[in-house]
Amino acid sequence: MQLIEHPVVIGGGPVGLVLALSLQQAGVPVTVLEAQAPGAMYGDGRALALSFGTRQVLEQLQVWSMLADAVTAIETIHVSQQKGLGRTVLKAQEHQLPALGYVVSYGVLMRALDARLAQLTTGIKLHYEAPVTDLQVHASAADIVYTAADGQRHSLSTPLAVVADGGRSLEAIPGLQRDTKHYGHDALVGLVQTELPHRQVAYERFTPRGPMALLPNGDQFSLVWTGEQAYIDEIAALDDAAFLHALHAAFGDRVGRFLHAGKRFRFPLKLSKLEQTFAAHCVVIGNAAQTMHPVAGQGFNVGIRDAVALAENVASTASHEWGADHRLLAYQASRQRDTGRGLQFTDFLVNVFSNDLIGVGVLRGAGLGMLSMLPMARRFLVEKMSYGR
Ligand SMILES: Cc1cc2nc3c(=O)[nH]c(=O)nc-3n(C[C@H](O)[C@H](O)[C@H](O)COP(=O)(O)OP(=O)(O)OC[C@H]3O[C@@H](n4cnc5c(N)ncnc54)[C@H](O)[C@@H]3O)c2cc1C
Repeated sequence: MQLIEHPVVIGGGPVGLVLALSLQQAGVPVTVLEAQAPGAMYGDGRALALSFGTRQVLEQLQVWSMLADAVTAIETIHVSQQKGLGRTVLKAQEHQLPALGYVVSYGVLMRALDARLAQLTTGIKLHYEAPVTDLQVHASAADIVYTAADGQRHSLSTPLAVVADGGRSLEAIPGLQRDTKHYGHDALVGLVQTELPHRQVAYERFTPRGPMALLPNGDQFSLVWTGEQAYIDEIAALDDAAFLHALHAAFGDRVGRFLHAGKRFRFPLKLSKLEQTFAAHCVVIGNAAQTMHPVAGQGFNVGIRDAVALAENVASTASHEWGADHRLLAYQASRQRDTGRGLQFTDFLVNVFSNDLIGVGVLRGAGLGMLSMLPMARRFLVEKMSYGR
């Protein structure tokens, strides 16, 4: 068993890497264990809508400058519903913001984070192709087992294990209770080309089958089309021409005809959260701690705020207290409100805006109509989307 005296992060996805960079910047050494090979995620075309607050974090970590050419600013958000009245339009200008958010593909973000890591010569040890296969927590340390690229098994003992595996592999952490609600919905995502240019407008459209979004990404749109699995099965099986036709029927005429669709990817949708996010010498962050529906583009933004808050917590803790219960409790308390609101907000949007009950359509039409008239409600929505406040 190798004794490590600093935090070990399990998972080098975007949240794990933001944590590693934040710790490095604060002078705390860190080891990251990532299951996949370098660059394995560069082709992931899922579009992430980064909030303005996330931009500020990436600027501070000197990652933003590497991304700036590849992000598309959202200057307007247009929210509407199919078969219903009411719509609302939010504009960055009205809220004195340079943008309401920024769209970037997951793979492009990973490439920029890796590029920043490559510039750093000290502080971060990153092991690729090193999947963690076991995590045990004790009163004095957390023990981690991983398999290295050469197939050898290694054991580490650390004062603080941070689980940032996206909730993909280490589901069961002793003592932590996970609550999961399966929506029974999938998201189909991919790039689409439209007849009209996007002019920096993001469209969020609520249909009785589920929300769909078109996010401006480069000179195309990134589509997120959600619905019941059987419905997404049907859409996914369509050839390109039929798919573009179905998309036009569901989305309407706002961006003209849909001309071309790129490769389509699918993700199952669920809401999942840990009641408690820490155990002895172990803490869970990012999607591993809370997974939300992508309807409001909150998941990564909440995850990045986890990473920043944890880095601040660790940096302000004496090293002999890393992983101590009272410090992890303080971290959890600092994140509860933001995470809880993110989960509630997205779940609310899915429930209210995605069902076909009589009356609900009228209600949400009225809701959207009112939102366009009430400056305070609009500011709330903009601040929620931009900063998570
Ligand atoms: C369709 C869709 C659209 C989305 N849109 C948005 C959006 O617009 N805005 C937004 O904020 N969020 C969005 N999200 C959510 C966003 O993708 C996640 O919140 C974000 O990826 C979470 O990052 P993470 O680092 O916590 O987890 P992940 O991205 O899942 O990364 C986890 C990492 O851990 C590694 N790993 C897994 N198991 C192990 C192991 N045992 N050992 C070592 N390493 C391991 C994986 O290889 C991976 O690199 C969307 C999600 C979906 C599905």
